[in-house]
Amino acid sequence: MKIESMRDLFFEQIQDLYDAEQRLTKALPKMAEASSSPELRGAFESHLSETKGQVTRLERIFEELGESPKTTTCDAMKGLIKEGDSMASDIDKSPLRDAGLIAAANRVEHYEIAAYGSVRAFAHILGMDWAVSLLDQTLNEEKAADQKLTRIAENLINEEARQFVHR
Ligand code: FE
Ligand code: FE
Ligand code: ZN
Ligand code: FE
Repeated sequence: MKIESMRDLFFEQIQDLYDAEQRLTKALPKMAEASSSPELRGAFESHLSETKGQVTRLERIFEELGESPKTTTCDAMKGLIKEGDSMASDIDKSPLRDAGLIAAANRVEHYEIAAYGSVRAFAHILGMDWAVSLLDQTLNEEKAADQKLTRIAENLINEEARQFVHR
């Protein structure tokens, strides 16, 4: 897509996020299933339901823009999800795998925090206050998800994963 204005750039980035979030609605159930800790599984499940709401928010933005929802392939999210899949396939179900899943999932959340921060700034420049507030809600969910994963890693999993240090 040829990008010639801030509105074009905003629209393109929303399409990229729409692709990324849809990929996550398919990846998060697998991450939950792959978890050995019930707390981690629960964190993935609750972020899955938030992610579905984030998809809906993006659809509202398309609607307000008078555009039909469409995607631009998010190559970055494809790669990040592939790294998460590798953790599940390369490590037996254990606290060690949980530590790997969290390392992958934190990368996903950081990518999303960067992306939503940018589109929110673009929406602000474009004077689209309604979009700023929708994007802010998602941005806060992504930050909270990142912090929750980090807390789980610190409290529980990295502790238990120490038994694997000398294997
Ligand atoms: Fe998300
Ligand atoms: Fe992307
Ligand atoms: Zn997201
Ligand atoms: Fe997220």
